[in-house]
This record gives sequence, C-alpha cells and structure tokens, in this order.
Amino acid sequence: MNRRDEILSLDRARVWHPYTQMQEYLEQTEPLVLESAQGSRFRDVDGRSYIDGNASWYCCALGHQHPRLVKALSAQAEKMCHVPLAGIAHEPSARLAEELCTVAPAGLSRVFYSDDGSTAVEVSLKLALQYWAQNGRPERTRFLALDGGYHGDTMGAVSVSGIEVFRRSFGNVLIDCLRAPTGADGYQQAFDVLGQLLSAHAGELAAVIVEPIAQGAVGMRIYPPDLLRALRDLTRQHDVFLICDEVFTGYGRTGPFWASEHADVEPDVLCTAKGFTGGMLPMAATLVSERIFSGFLGDAERTFFYGHTFCGNPLGAALAREVLRVYRDEDVLALAAGKARRIAAAFERFRELPDVVETRSVGMIGALDLAGSKSYLEPRGRRVYREALRRGAYLRPLGNTIYITPSINIPDRDLDELLAILEESVRAA
Ligand code: PLP
Repeated sequence: MNRRDEILSLDRARVWHPYTQMQEYLEQTEPLVLESAQGSRFRDVDGRSYIDGNASWYCCALGHQHPRLVKALSAQAEKMCHVPLAGIAHEPSARLAEELCTVAPAGLSRVFYSDDGSTAVEVSLKLALQYWAQNGRPERTRFLALDGGYHGDTMGAVSVSGIEVFRRSFGNVLIDCLRAPTGADGYQQAFDVLGQLLSAHAGELAAVIVEPIAQGAVGMRIYPPDLLRALRDLTRQHDVFLICDEVFTGYGRTGPFWASEHADVEPDVLCTAKGFTGGMLPMAATLVSERIFSGFLGDAERTFFYGHTFCGNPLGAALAREVLRVYRDEDVLALAAGKARRIAAAFERFRELPDVVETRSVGMIGALDLAGSKSYLEPRGRRVYREALRRGAYLRPLGNTIYITPSINIPDRDLDELLAILEESVRAA
C-alpha cells in the first residue's frame, strides 16, 4: 500500500469529517491527502501543489508557515505553552490585549479570550444576556440578526445564524432570535425590516449581531456600508448592543483591517478569530466596551461565568501579537489593495462566462453565482471543485457560489493563476 492509500484507509475507517456527507466521502475515490503547506499553497502526499483558494477556511491570512509566525510560535513554546488565565496574568495575553485595543474600532477597551469564531460569538451573546440580566433589564433576552448570517456552530452561535440548513435539526432548542429576511429584494429591504424589528422589539432585545459588509458562509454576499451605519445609529437610539462578528471580515479581508471601518462604525462588541492567529492555532477574542465591562464589576454574583481551558493561551497570544506586527512591518493591507483590484477586474470579466448570473467582489473576496438554485446543497459547485483540483487549486464552493478568499498576502503570480484556474474550471464544469 502506498502512503496515500494507507492514510486514506485509516481516515476512512475512523475520521468523521466536518461539513461532509460521509456517505459521499467514503465512496469518493480521490480526496485530497495533504502533506505540507507553504505560502499560499499546499502540497499533497504525491508532491502535487495546489493554490489554497480560501486561505484554509479564511484562516491563514498571512499564508501558510509564515517564517515569522513559525519563529514566534517556537520561541513562545520554549518558554511557556499553557497556563490558565483565571486570575493569572502573563505577558503575551496582556500585551496582546493592549495591542488589539489599539487597532480596534474606538470604544472597545476590554478583551475576553476564547478558542475560535464560534466561541468568540458565544461569549458575545452570553455577555449581552448577562449584562442586561444584572443591570436592570432582565427582559432583554432575544437577539436580532440578518437572514443568511453565519456566526458559528455552537448552540448560541447557530441560534443567531440564519442559514436554514445548518439550523434545521436544532430548531426546537435554539435561543430566541428574530431575523430579517434577505431575499430577492436585496439588502436595502432586509435592513428596512431589520430596523422595523429593532424598533418594535427593542425592549426585549439583548443585541443585534451582524457580519459587517460581507456575509461569508451564505455565499459571499456584500452589502453597502451605509446600511451598517444606519443600523448602528438605530441600535444607539434604542440602546441595544451591536455585535460585529469580524471573524471572517477582520484582518483586511474586505480591505480595511476591520470591515466595520467601511461604515465608520464603532460596535459595542467585536468578535475576531481565524486571521487573528494567522490560522496557526485556534484562538479568538471578543472585544467589548467599557460600559459592558463595568456592568460586571461588583460582587461575586456579577462574575462572568464563562471560560474555556485555553482562554488566553500563551502560544496563541504570542502568535497573534506577531500577526499584528507582520501586518504593520510588511504593509500587508497596502499591498493587498493592488491584489483586490486584480480580483475585482477578474470577477467583472467572469460576468461574461457561460451560466454565470452574478459576480461581486470586495477587498480580498471575489464570488460568482452559477445559474440554478441557491441551495447550499446544490451539487454543481462540487464539479467546479473537482475541475479546479485537477488544475492545481483548492476552491470550496458554497452551493452554486464559486468564490476565492485567498491569503491577504498571496503573491500576485499565485493570485493570477488561481483566477485563471477558477475561470477554466467554471467553463469546464
Ligand atoms: N463567524 C463567522 C462570520 C464565520 O465566518 C465563522 C466561520 O466561518 C464563525 C463565526 C465560526 O468560526 P469557527 O469555525 O472558528 O468556530
């Protein structure tokens, strides 16, 4: 048995893959079996190279194995890998919190660490609920969100998400969330409804949660900053917290460091993960305003009873600090502006491809929709996936939406190759 087959037979016998229909997976003949990764590419066990078209689930914002990140990780590993954060301080998490608040939108002054995007969101929901419960508004127990939002897979996060197929099985036990439909009438209509729901239910709402500017997992849908700005104004008017989930959009994915900056919005809560550690370790943070933080000061009852074992993990914190330094030293966002223009021009052109009904782009996101149903389960994208793999690129279509979200610092030649492969694969599928 060669190595590939050996790994696959172990994998098929034991591993349950996320977001994967295992029946199909077990019967599939050619899954990717990876060996190593470098820059914006990874390599399989047979030595074939693939461009990572979505930065490994939007995570590896600075590419794979960035030498400075590897170095920062090993330097910290020599010193201290893990200690608890409950009532204990250490340099990486303390300095990181200070540095994060410096780059964060104004008004966010406290950092609560967790493990990944879902837990960063979970923290934000629980903070909002507990804040109102102990600050005179216990009836504020509901959330408000946009249809099509995606905020993660833990029970709280999936409750405020609006992708029907991910929620379906858990519908009876999810926490209460009102949702504004984002249908054919577009985002203006959706935000109008969101505003109406907000005004009508303000007294019951703990928070509104949105992915600022770009709704990722639902199909890379993009909306105008003005709508976010107006929502911020309305949440202020009704004194309802605004949570910006920047797990996908942060770290320059849409152009500026935070997508909230497009609209000059200062949220009450901001969730970050993924690019936060350059995708090298699972770690996340929820940033909050001083008002929220101070609502938890006082006697023991007011403690925020929340925490995961790896909160503030020194390895993750050291990495996250180095990520911020690399963004600054390598002028990552300024260089990405040129790459974003290449993406925008290519997706403009892709509008002419056969069977393409819509294309869009913002920053380091480019997406097109193929004709047909908008269902996440639509198989057509799978054909594009296979065509792209044969040509040396890893794409992960969302139903009929074919998109790229490469590392923010992808070399121009890799980006051009990725765009060319995408075009050929759409034509061939
Ligand atoms: N929020 C957003 C906007 C996301 O895109 C994701 C994941 O894609 C999450 C939250 C959940 O993050 P994680 O998969 O790290 O739990």
